[in-house]
Amino acid sequence: MDLNALSRQHPIIQELREKQNTLWMNNSRKREDFSRFTIKDVEEAESRLQRFAPYLEKAFPELEQTNGLIESPIVAIPHMKKWLEQKAGGKIDGDLWLKADHALPVSGSIKARGGIYEVLTYAENLALEKGLITEKDSYSAFKQPAFKQLFSSHHIIVGSTGNLGLSIGIMSAKMGFNVTVHMSADAKEWKKALLRDRGAIVVEHRADYEKAVARGRKEAEQSPNAYFVDDEHSHLLFLGYAAAGLRLKKQFARAGLTVDRHHPLYVYLPCGIGGGPGGVAFGLQLVFGPHVHCFFAEPTESPCMLLGLATGLHDQISVQEIGLSNQTEADGLAVGRPSGFVGKLAASFIAGSYTVKDEQLFGMLAGLAETEKIRLEPSALAGMAGPLVLSHHKKVKGHPLHLVWATGGSMVPDSIMEQYIRKGRSVSEESFKMNI
Ligand SMILES: *Cc1c(COP(=O)(O)O)cnc(C)c1O
Repeated sequence: MDLNALSRQHPIIQELREKQNTLWMNNSRKREDFSRFTIKDVEEAESRLQRFAPYLEKAFPELEQTNGLIESPIVAIPHMKKWLEQKAGGKIDGDLWLKADHALPVSGSIKARGGIYEVLTYAENLALEKGLITEKDSYSAFKQPAFKQLFSSHHIIVGSTGNLGLSIGIMSAKMGFNVTVHMSADAKEWKKALLRDRGAIVVEHRADYEKAVARGRKEAEQSPNAYFVDDEHSHLLFLGYAAAGLRLKKQFARAGLTVDRHHPLYVYLPCGIGGGPGGVAFGLQLVFGPHVHCFFAEPTESPCMLLGLATGLHDQISVQEIGLSNQTEADGLAVGRPSGFVGKLAASFIAGSYTVKDEQLFGMLAGLAETEKIRLEPSALAGMAGPLVLSHHKKVKGHPLHLVWATGGSMVPDSIMEQYIRKGRSVSEESFKMNI
């Protein structure tokens, strides 16, 4: 790759190299006919989750309240809106809401959507194949010993920076599968410990996410009865995430929130490899059509999706190739090369993508804890910068509803959360400014 030639063609590369807050708007966005998936595929995913609800309710006591649905609330965060305006000295038009996926039951992050869905799909296929169940039966049967026995001769393998491993590991172990999680160097110790405690095998790598995934894929190829959850290519993960769109539409209706031409919805999604935010954005696009505008949010050191989209090179380019480190405290977003599958799909519907500095993530982490008593992990704050970035660039119209997708945090141990908050409080006002 000739970096100079590429930078001349795409000046945004120089901006990314300077590690400042960068905004890329998608000028070739199409609003219809954008994909190989349709609403039918997403509805099918939702139906499968509904079939499994009676099992999930039994398997996880925390799901009794929701009758086995793994879902999170939406909450207005007006105090945080004020905080953001004061800190950055800007103005945010419209209302600010949070989608509380940090509080998703079972695994405490957005990965509880796609990851658990893929494990359930695999389990369902095995059980159907063996004649243990039909789609008409109550899936509470999955708790029976015959199922555990079947699954105990199968092996689920995944590579992760942490949270995908948590969701796949927790769900697989609960159902009786053998499960191995290949963790990248970024993965936090407490996530590895929690997984081992639940019965998963954790393999630690000194390399980054891409290598951990490659090792997992290789292990799966070499083992009989192994199933690899492929974060870079999985359609199942994507559709599990996309089901969030159908759910959010109902949630908005219940809360009396309108999305239309005069009340556009702006959604900000922290992005790593792209499956989670891409899937959710896809689902939202299907249900809200032209009135929703979804943005990816990434650390300044790991803007892999922005780079892939802006250059059109997708997975043919990595952030390391333009001189970035892929070193970030936002472990969930520490991905140097995006999913080509997701990038090519998202190119047709995503509104844009922007970057945030680590110290800004920490600043907002402390700000949110103080103003709204909501505690998120660093990655999950990337979306919070969106309303400022967009308002600053005058990219919002009408009376917008800004929805920040809070992607993780409820499982972070208290002592570590306290450290995050302390670190956030010590961020200087100057470094917090979004000089976009
Ligand atoms: C994984 C993750 C994301 C991004 O999802 P990808 O599918 O990797 O793009 C965002 N936030 C958190 C907390 C995550 O764990």
